[in-house]
Amino acid sequence: MKASASEMVSTLSTLLPGRVSTAERHQLEYARDLWPRGLIEIAFGALPKQRPEAVVWPLTTEEVVEVVRIARRHRRPVVPFGAGSGVCGGAVPIHGGLVVDLKRMSRVLQIDEEVGSASFEAGILGERLENELSRNKLTLGHFPSSIMCSTLGGWLATRSAGQYSTKYGKIEDLVEAVTFVDGRGEIHQVGRLTRPDVLQLIVGSEGTLGIITQATLRVERQPELEWLRAWRFSSVEVGLEAIRGLLQANLRPAVVRLYDELDSFLHKNDARASESANETSRVGRESFSSEYWLNLLRPTGRARGRLPDLRRLGIAAALLRPSVTHFVTSTLLSHFQPGCLLIIGFEGEDSLTRAESDDASSILRLAGGIDLGEEPAARWKAHRYDTSFHMPKIFEAGAFVDTMEVATTWDKLPKLYRTVRRALSRLAFVMAHFSHAYPDGCSIYFTFAARAATQREAEQRYDELWSAAMEATNEAGAALSHHHGVGLLKAPFMEKEHGRSGMEILRALKATFDPDYILNPGKLGLCAPLSLMRYRSLALLTHG
Ligand SMILES: Cc1cc2nc3c(=O)[nH]c(=O)nc-3n(C[C@H](O)[C@H](O)[C@H](O)COP(=O)(O)OP(=O)(O)OC[C@H]3O[C@@H](n4cnc5c(N)ncnc54)[C@H](O)[C@@H]3O)c2cc1C
Repeated sequence: MKASASEMVSTLSTLLPGRVSTAERHQLEYARDLWPRGLIEIAFGALPKQRPEAVVWPLTTEEVVEVVRIARRHRRPVVPFGAGSGVCGGAVPIHGGLVVDLKRMSRVLQIDEEVGSASFEAGILGERLENELSRNKLTLGHFPSSIMCSTLGGWLATRSAGQYSTKYGKIEDLVEAVTFVDGRGEIHQVGRLTRPDVLQLIVGSEGTLGIITQATLRVERQPELEWLRAWRFSSVEVGLEAIRGLLQANLRPAVVRLYDELDSFLHKNDARASESANETSRVGRESFSSEYWLNLLRPTGRARGRLPDLRRLGIAAALLRPSVTHFVTSTLLSHFQPGCLLIIGFEGEDSLTRAESDDASSILRLAGGIDLGEEPAARWKAHRYDTSFHMPKIFEAGAFVDTMEVATTWDKLPKLYRTVRRALSRLAFVMAHFSHAYPDGCSIYFTFAARAATQREAEQRYDELWSAAMEATNEAGAALSHHHGVGLLKAPFMEKEHGRSGMEILRALKATFDPDYILNPGKLGLCAPLSLMRYRSLALLTHG
């Protein structure tokens, strides 16, 4: 450790006794988040290229102020860390420095039923936050698949979206106010009602402008009635038209998820497999995308005895030749004609929910939908948090899997789907669903998987996949991220999306809030002028 860094650590240890660690175990644990590129390294047994010098656990906003001031005096980076569930490398300490883990700042500050608001410290885990509200018969309505392993601060920093965002909004729609500490160690309190809206600059700034320590959120009464059903449409295009019609008729379902043909086909097969295996806890689609891959790739666990080895090996090989696989699956799909599965749900006050769901059913039927009843939708709901928690096992099995969420307006949506899918399917096995729908547009969530024999090959394929998909998204005039954020992954594409003048605005904000560029350097494509060259070499290293 450099002299300045060890001096910094000793000052911090006096300030936060027992809450500063330089242990190698912690340095390794906090060297990565859940960015799949880092998981490739782990799968091949490689140690992280970067690690923090120390990890600190503050308990109050004032302690965060002191931590930032001390780090600033020593010109060391400060990386805010929620639960590390980010999938874009946003919490990776690429220049070392301090990782500030906020999870010990997790108090409920107030819950006001009359006003319909609640305040929490930023390190509270999503699941606990919702449980605390539940006790008062309230809900935030924010249910990301990672609710058990992500924090309020992480949600705000990345502009997270929950599964019910169509009704309740994304986290930026739910936040009323935040307290944050900037890169000079100054405390700010910003609220929704002040203009210009500084709050919305901080939300989504991924720890580059400030460390969020507290937030106030809009909350609602828990719904009286929930209505959840599955429908089938003949194609993606027909399904999308139906959803658009519904939203533009001013209906606000809580959840809308339209799966493309491949995803719907696999969903159906998986449900059948569960039934025939007579499982008491049946596998829903959400666990399918992760565990199914694993089962196909490795002859262990649930897959044993369920799938013949030959088939498993065939599918594992298919991941090596994605374009052939896509040709075969599209031929198969035209034979089976599975159509596209739609999960749709309304919730809220009893009579309104009944009226909305009746109207929605009429619109969906007129648009060509076939009502599949409650069962497939109930299965989705029962397994909606299973998603991807087994992802690391897929990596252990020699493949990698990742997801990409892009968004655009209704007119561009079918083209965006086709272009990005084509770009990805040359190199990976890919499927998609459409969720987070709004009156003006919708997001597409691609899931893709590929295999490679060596770490280098896997990383090259991974980088190629993302470059191709980001180019295709940009060409289609769509947003590069709907809710996972930018982090390191999309930093090289920021200028393409925002243009030079957009980046100048972001840099000016950075220079104001964080003049020494100590807060999460390198993220969002914002680099200190002096370390620019160093960052560029890292971008080259990570993106080829
Ligand atoms: C299985 C799985 C499912 C997922 N599903 C969803 C989903 O449905 N919807 C969704 O939106 N995302 C999803 N994600 C992505 C991830 O959970 C979100 O990005 C989440 O908001 C990150 O929260 P975190 O607390 O883990 O943040 P971290 O990963 O720790 O950090 C994310 C970024 O926020 C910054 N940050 C963290 N805390 C603070 C703070 N207090 N102040 C300032 N900056 C901070 C970090 O520096 C980093 O840049 C999923 C991820 C996984 C692994």
